[in-house]
Amino acid sequence: MQRDFLLKRLEQKPDKQWDIVVIGGGATGLGIAVDAASRGYKTVLFEQSDFAKGTSSRSTKLVHGGVRYLAQGDISLVLEALRERGLLRQNAPHLVKNQAFIIPNYDWWEGPFYNVGMKVYDMMAGRLGLGPSEKISREETLKAIPNLDEHQLNGGIIYYDGQFDDSRLAVNLAQTAVENEAIVLNYMPVTGLLKDRGNLVCGVEVTDTESGETHRVHSRVVINATGVFVDTILSMDDAGTEPLVRPSQGIHFVLDKSFLQGESAIMIPKTSDGRVLFAVPWHGKVVVGTTDTPLEIADIHLEPRALEEEIEFILTTAAQYLKKDPQKKDVLSVFAGLRPLAAQQDSSSRSTKEISRSHRLMVSLSGLITITGGKWTTYRKMAEDTVNKAWMVGGLPERKCVTETMPIHGYVKNTRFDSPGYFYGADRTAINSLIQAEPDLGQLLHPDYEYTRAQVVWAVRHEMARTVEDFLSRRIRMLLLDARISMVMATEVATIMARELKRDPGWIQSQVTDYQTLAKGYILS
Ligand SMILES: Cc1cc2nc3c(=O)[nH]c(=O)nc-3n(C[C@H](O)[C@H](O)[C@H](O)COP(=O)(O)OP(=O)(O)OC[C@H]3O[C@@H](n4cnc5c(N)ncnc54)[C@H](O)[C@@H]3O)c2cc1C
Repeated sequence: MQRDFLLKRLEQKPDKQWDIVVIGGGATGLGIAVDAASRGYKTVLFEQSDFAKGTSSRSTKLVHGGVRYLAQGDISLVLEALRERGLLRQNAPHLVKNQAFIIPNYDWWEGPFYNVGMKVYDMMAGRLGLGPSEKISREETLKAIPNLDEHQLNGGIIYYDGQFDDSRLAVNLAQTAVENEAIVLNYMPVTGLLKDRGNLVCGVEVTDTESGETHRVHSRVVINATGVFVDTILSMDDAGTEPLVRPSQGIHFVLDKSFLQGESAIMIPKTSDGRVLFAVPWHGKVVVGTTDTPLEIADIHLEPRALEEEIEFILTTAAQYLKKDPQKKDVLSVFAGLRPLAAQQDSSSRSTKEISRSHRLMVSLSGLITITGGKWTTYRKMAEDTVNKAWMVGGLPERKCVTETMPIHGYVKNTRFDSPGYFYGADRTAINSLIQAEPDLGQLLHPDYEYTRAQVVWAVRHEMARTVEDFLSRRIRMLLLDARISMVMATEVATIMARELKRDPGWIQSQVTDYQTLAKGYILS
């Protein structure tokens, strides 16, 4: 997956008509590119920044049916998500882990109540279930989570859901698309839509932000998969369109593992203000997060920031359940994400908690297809539905979806999720070969973390990393795991990348400065 090579393929035939152009390189767009290319449609995807720079690198990292949606009675969404959870675990076993969750019970009624709910959840997962839920005693709950607050604890419910690395899956999807002959390009914003004489969309205009060059790319179908940005593309089509998305913001903290000992995650279905709270082990740390809150549309951008009240809410709520109260100084990184909730016609007065998480697929009069809403977990089904619509709209030959059982790049069975670099799956051997050929690449980027120089080289050569941020934030997850230490790594990462990308010392300097500015926004002072 090399940018220069893929760009050349795009430029070689400037007049060529593609079957499908996808705008947006998050979970939704990348899923569509994989689906379309694997059906044999000639596919190109453009991402304005890096793959998964938007919401798709900022999720809670759960592949889940959504226990919460079950409580809200959204049965079809839960059924669909549970099925997709099982399929994703089968197709990307190097990234999706079976994670035990514990719902601690402090009131007498919670045990039986949640026990019944989780049994229904298990039943709905059917043969793709990850393990049966069960009621556990107070002693068993404390054994699983030794530092849970013991005061008035009665016991708990243990159940299973999936857990993954979101931006790594995005990169692997991009690689899978390329392996199926798609062209996927980052740093290529779509700046306009091309229309034919009948006012139908027939392609896009894109600008390469690295070279400044503009390209006009013709296509039978254009798909708008830009998450919270879908309305910007819709207004390129028709300046008077009503907004489709109601964004809501959710934030997460990353804490040291000492705050949540053991291997189990905590799930609190109802906090003091009725939201859900998660504390989940991830890459040797703990991710703590809660349900998102509504946001004004004017605030949409690629680097949302955590609000002071969100920070306070998580700190105080987490302290109610953990023996050791987390303080601001304990937060290794804080990140925020915007959920592209598909606003329903009658939903203007409903809170975002109540707006359905199911996806919404829409075809404009111009033939532009827009897909929004949904979840990471259901990206494959969203892609299937979208491509089914695309071949009809574009008059393409009908071809069946093949992604249900298709392995995703990196596929390898029996992953040991505690071994360094497990998330590369099948690529780990090739990274080790780089070190064998050039032992210096085996050196660590920082003594406290197991990331090596070879991973930087790999990310540039095979994962289209173009900036220090691409590497430290989305190829490895240092920005989220420990923002301060990631800043220490930046200069060495920039130097290795400059050698690979043939950049000058000025590039190194500006990359490091840009990265330090960005990373400071992930630190709570
Ligand atoms: C706080 C939070 C937690 C979540 N947790 C979970 C979870 O645990 N499990 C789960 O299943 N789901 C979760 N979700 C939902 C999930 O993360 C999203 O549904 C999903 O990531 C949305 O993907 P997307 O591709 O639609 O949007 P995005 O990831 O935002 O991708 C859209 C892309 O389009 C690009 N773009 C925009 N304009 C242009 C343009 N003009 N040209 C080219 N590209 C453009 C953007 O740069 C962006 O990369 C969570 C969401 C939030 C907010």
